[in-house]
Amino acid sequence: MGDPAGGVTALAREVVAGEVRAVARAITLVESRRAEDQAAADALLDALLPHTGGSLRLGVSGPPGAGKSTLIDALGRHAIAQGERVAVLAIDPSSAVHGGSLLGDKTRMGRLGRESSSFIRPSPSSGAEGGVGPRTREAISVCEAAGYSLVVVETLGVGQGDHAVLDLVDCLVLVLIPGAGDDVQAMKRGILELSDIVVVNKADGADRARAEGARAELEAALSLLQQASGGAPPPVLLVSALEEVGVAALHAGVVDQVARARASGALERRRAAGRRRWLERELTEALRARFLAAPAARARLAELEDAVADGKLLPRRAVAELLLLA
Ligand code: GDP
Repeated sequence: MGDPAGGVTALAREVVAGEVRAVARAITLVESRRAEDQAAADALLDALLPHTGGSLRLGVSGPPGAGKSTLIDALGRHAIAQGERVAVLAIDPSSAVHGGSLLGDKTRMGRLGRESSSFIRPSPSSGAEGGVGPRTREAISVCEAAGYSLVVVETLGVGQGDHAVLDLVDCLVLVLIPGAGDDVQAMKRGILELSDIVVVNKADGADRARAEGARAELEAALSLLQQASGGAPPPVLLVSALEEVGVAALHAGVVDQVARARASGALERRRAAGRRRWLERELTEALRARFLAAPAARARLAELEDAVADGKLLPRRAVAELLLLA
């Protein structure tokens, strides 16, 4: 460890060789917020850059309990059977907002995890926007450099993070369950419009008929939304992740959509737009961090925040005053 540059070179070599422990260490390094790790993280990413860009990046979003991890487990095993190597950057519910009792005792993606061609990285969902962390893009790059052909990013898909995940993935699958109709109206409309494929999961047993009803409703809603924006509405697929029905069709649908986007140039445009927004986000964060590094600015911000919260001051005025301190 005496020679950080040498250490990073060795780590990069091990990542590119696909060594799982190196992949895990590399992600820890690129996710580190410690100032002393930043130079090594940047050097590592520079070394990995020529090896990135080759995977299919798949986002899987949906409310807690919709069956995302069950679906990713089944989808990942199916992809591996097709010759793929699969990495999953997953929300860890044990640290979720609900205090860890939700699914904390369940081993998520246990079967996929036992496959030698899989890599599963849980990340705490607390604090991250919708499950997308500030360094998820870099974690994807590490997985790509390690030769994973399919990189799955699981997010809760509620709120701000919806849009952040879109900047990262080639295809976004939204997982819903029968009876989620009101949910969709209330909070999912944004992400519904942005999804590339919609899955109605748990289409099994007594829920099969309800799932079919939900699909019809969703198709009607999507075609209305799409009429406004033009283009084809996303397909709605019935799936039972538990019984592994419809999983192969989902995989084929994802692969096909991304292949068509690649051929038409839409994929590269989408990735370029995502990188552009990433730059904007990095810049915004860096400027904010630099500004708040001054104790006087932090103190004044705290005061002005209270005044804004009380309705005594307009945010625009607060910002104008804060900028005088910069
Ligand atoms: P997540 O929170 O979205 O990752 O949901 P999980 O994958 O943890 O699944 C939540 C619960 O739904 C678990 O008890 C699963 O066994 C169950 N589940 C997941 N997929 C299906 C399915 O296709 N059919 C049925 N009946 N149950 C499912």
